[in-house]
Amino acid sequence: MMNRQIVLASRPEGEVRPENLRLIESKVPELAEGQVLLRTLWLSLDPYMRGRMSAAKSYAKPVEVGEVMVGGTVCRVAASRHPGYAEGDIVLGYTGWQDYCLSDGKGLRKLDPRQAPVSTALGVLGMPGMTAYTGLLNIGQPKPGETVVVAAATGAVGSAVGQIAKLKEARAVGIAGGADKCRYLVEELGFDAAVDHRAADFAQRLAAACPRGIDVYFENVGGAVWNAVLPLLNDFARIPVCGLIAQYNEASLPAGPDRTPLLMRAILTKRLTLRGFIVWDFASQAADFERDVGSWLRQGKLKYREDVVDGLERAPEAFIGLLKGRNFGKLLVRVAAQ
Ligand code: NDP
Repeated sequence: MMNRQIVLASRPEGEVRPENLRLIESKVPELAEGQVLLRTLWLSLDPYMRGRMSAAKSYAKPVEVGEVMVGGTVCRVAASRHPGYAEGDIVLGYTGWQDYCLSDGKGLRKLDPRQAPVSTALGVLGMPGMTAYTGLLNIGQPKPGETVVVAAATGAVGSAVGQIAKLKEARAVGIAGGADKCRYLVEELGFDAAVDHRAADFAQRLAAACPRGIDVYFENVGGAVWNAVLPLLNDFARIPVCGLIAQYNEASLPAGPDRTPLLMRAILTKRLTLRGFIVWDFASQAADFERDVGSWLRQGKLKYREDVVDGLERAPEAFIGLLKGRNFGKLLVRVAAQ
């Protein structure tokens, strides 16, 4: 049986290009005692993968050139010689950009397709949903009536942040790229306002959407969005620093005066709390997350949107689009039909 894999062909300088990723084919190795053969059904594409393509020191080990790209997956057990798994089981794994993978069962979690569509284990009920839940509630700590602003607001993390802020009776303002995404935030997800970061007068529009300033800014983006948010922060504002996607493709620092002194002055005089976090810092709260978000989903209090691309071979192009805002919702690759 042949396995298609997408490997890192070279490290990108600046924007990721199609030639940085390569599709190769190889034989699936024999299944040994104690192993399962996994058929990938869903592959999650996430912004952190840009970091793994770079050799720069970070919180996780980079992918080496020639290695299969890493990533969260939902798989079907295609064959098993492992006592804990039977053919047909659906599991959550971290098997990367490939059709098949052998596993000794470590790190796999069985999913029950009757509980929720299994793809949600990569989105609203998975790592991005937990990032929203734990980052907002532990660091942002929104209070009723406060204004919570989130960028990349229609995405996997941002859409949950704004809706959870509403469930906590705060005012939710989303920032997104384009009129369709902004309309979706207000009309479908119930955000109080949405602002298009591509508009020429974005900073003025954001100020108008936040007449009482900003109490919680959930940072997903950095760059020009952060510059518009900074002057609107209220005293004692909290800023969960979750992601900086506007910077991920930057090969050098922006020209012009360094804005760090402005930032430091704002931190001091407004007594701001900024705290960076990686979702696994809050791993001990996984049960709270599953209970709360699972029940909000079942009650229809939380909605999610998936952006599905068909075929493993389209993963590179879809990932390049993610860093440009071409996805609308949690970006998933359907590698095989369930
Ligand atoms: P999304 O589904 O939100 O997709 C990324 C979105 O980012 C795009 O659709 C685009 O939306 C927006 N974007 C891209 N470039 C820019 C830019 N230059 N300026 C403004 N917006 C931009 O991704 P996720 O929800 O998975 O991730 C959101 C953020 O959370 C990322 O920064 C990610 O790295 C971070 N993250 C951090 C984790 C942690 O543990 N700290 C865990 C998971 C995610 P639009 O068209 O609206 O601009």
